[in-house]
Amino acid sequence: MAYKFVDNYRERGARKKLVELLKSRGIEDENVLKAIGKVPRHFFFDETFWNQSYKDIAFPIGDGQTISQPYTVAYQSELLHIKKGDKVLEIGTGSGYQTCILMELGATVFTIERQENIYNRTIQILPGMGYRPTFYCGDGSKGIAAHAPYDKIIVTAGAPLVPEILLKQLKIGGILVIPVGDEKTQKMVTVIRVSETDYEKIVLDTFRFVPLVGDQAW
Ligand code: SAM
Repeated sequence: MAYKFVDNYRERGARKKLVELLKSRGIEDENVLKAIGKVPRHFFFDETFWNQSYKDIAFPIGDGQTISQPYTVAYQSELLHIKKGDKVLEIGTGSGYQTCILMELGATVFTIERQENIYNRTIQILPGMGYRPTFYCGDGSKGIAAHAPYDKIIVTAGAPLVPEILLKQLKIGGILVIPVGDEKTQKMVTVIRVSETDYEKIVLDTFRFVPLVGDQAW
């Protein structure tokens, strides 16, 4: 894939329109909208498909995976209530688009991808764009204990349940956002760790994610 980091008036205009579309679909957080307006999503696409990159759709990135729909990225980001300096664990790096949005929101990001091909591609692209999260390749369904506890954890693949082990890696007051359901559809779930032993769970809208595959997953 030839990556030419060209971001001209056409792409910037398309990004502005995408931001307006996401607003009309209910995204309210100004910081999230600003981040969507800043990250060049077409850089994650082969040049042949640049005309698809600012549509509000998921798109194949190879190896059976997709770059998430912008609405989904914005929705999950909004639920995380990222504050500058938050330590965030992202499970399912994929293209790295969501990673960039988290970093634009001021998070320090640890991100893990289980598919080596995707991992190898993303660790090239993001630094080329100026984003340097800490990358891992492996099964993120168990979290990354070495860097725990986290202010926020985001899972970008559909899980059959909320892995207990991820809850234990949250700080008190920390938030986990994870799609939970069967292989076809999932409900977005947020879990807030309110004390050492107590958690508050909120079940939200329905989405369709690729499966979270691993020890604490499918
Ligand atoms: N938000 C990403 C983006 O915008 O490109 C999309 C992520 S994609 C929908 C989900 C990713 O999770 C896939 O790349 C998949 O390989 C990865 N994945 C699935 N199970 C995983 C696991 N146990 N640990 C880490 N990554 C996993």
